[in-house]
Amino acid sequence: MELKEALQQLELLQKKMYAYTCAESALYLDSVTVAPKDTAEGRGVALGILAGESQKLITASETGELLEFLREHREELGEPERRETEELWRSYQQMVRIPADEYMEYAMLTNEASDVWHRAKENSDFELFRPVLERLVEFSRKFAGYYDETKKPYDALLNEFERGADMEYLDAFFAEIRAKLVPLIQEIGRAQQIDDSFLHRYYPVEAQRRFSDYLMEVLQLDRGHCTIGETEHPFTLEFNNKDVRITTNYKENSVAESMYSVIHEGGHAKYELGIRDDLQYTCLAGGVSMGVHESQSRFYENIIGRSREFIGAIFPKMQEFFPEQLSDVTAEQMYRAVNRVEPSLIRTEADELTYCLHVMIRYEIEKQLIGGSLEVKDVPEVWNRLYKEYLGVDVPDDRRGCLQDSHWSGGSFGYFPSYALGSAYGAQMLKNMEQDIDVWGPVSRGDLSAVSGWLREKIHQYGSLMEPSEVVKNACGVFEPSAYTEYLTKKYREIYGL
Ligand code: ZN
Repeated sequence: MELKEALQQLELLQKKMYAYTCAESALYLDSVTVAPKDTAEGRGVALGILAGESQKLITASETGELLEFLREHREELGEPERRETEELWRSYQQMVRIPADEYMEYAMLTNEASDVWHRAKENSDFELFRPVLERLVEFSRKFAGYYDETKKPYDALLNEFERGADMEYLDAFFAEIRAKLVPLIQEIGRAQQIDDSFLHRYYPVEAQRRFSDYLMEVLQLDRGHCTIGETEHPFTLEFNNKDVRITTNYKENSVAESMYSVIHEGGHAKYELGIRDDLQYTCLAGGVSMGVHESQSRFYENIIGRSREFIGAIFPKMQEFFPEQLSDVTAEQMYRAVNRVEPSLIRTEADELTYCLHVMIRYEIEKQLIGGSLEVKDVPEVWNRLYKEYLGVDVPDDRRGCLQDSHWSGGSFGYFPSYALGSAYGAQMLKNMEQDIDVWGPVSRGDLSAVSGWLREKIHQYGSLMEPSEVVKNACGVFEPSAYTEYLTKKYREIYGL
């Protein structure tokens, strides 16, 4: 084989994989936005075939031979091609190591688990979910060995979501959070609480939709390349850097919910839209890791979106969209209301400060489950104990406790920590950004172009060309969890007058 021919095959292979992903994504997007509710069956047939075909493509012996050839000629490859080869080789090896029958069994198990979890959550019945969860834990331990047998099982799983992050890294991170934030949250609990009742007046959905359009304008999301849809659990989906979709969910009595989901998903979209053209249709085209992706969404949502400067800039316009609801409210009251801290039961509804404790609890439980020091049957008890210890709240039932998230039912152990890491990366990015550019002057005028430009230059453009840790280093320097706890401590002490 000639190198030139191999490179053409590499390009074609990745375009085929892109096509399968596109088809799967389009079906998924349709299913959770506009598809009629009783139409899952036919889509399931199509998705099953697509998943099988894309697995065949990556595990084919020709694919292995092509990648081996390219690896032998690695010195002659350009940077993107070398990295593409490495990444595909990693997926190829991983896939061929998992025995086909186990892979099928696991796919069927997660499919079943999702259904069982839904019912268990609805009825707040952990016992119903327990046997399935036990099998999922068992599978995850086994798969961890296929991913990387040199690592401890939970480290191997963590590595799948945030390459380079392991228990040592996360233990140090969460120790800092536990030491600095648990006492701060307790102190805030004793301080005078902020009134946010005006956020829960009646906000018609039609007006909220127009407000979302305005927010997308402020975020400079080009509507020719990014649309907004409606769904139950908001998410962002990218086809390529010219076609990204965000979604939100409107609640008539809670204006901030949709507002911040638009800004959060908008942050994910900015990342995908900012990736370089020459990486498109390759395996390097998407955001590099869960943690780095969340660092972008949370940067826009919390660091910018919940800043006094940003609220000051958009509040007059907000009053125009909601004249009756906000005529007696000031920008400062709005700023304080959207930053109200209140320990609660549900992770997805948590405020900026208590959020990472929800993640820490899940991390501690997963670590023990996969490590073997905690049995599945004891999860509810440990969950409830940790919620009391860190957040001071009593968990009334498993629906609002250990059954609230879908992640484990999908076999995703090791996913949660990236949410908290993302927030922490963001705080450190701010520190570096402030040294490079005037962040708050333009933001206070509603102009996010300097902020977006900095993030694009340091992070977005590279897609997955670098390792997650290199991207973080490029934007933050050496990762220091204290930058995050200092950012939160300063902000919330000022808000609560402590
Ligand atoms: Zn997100």
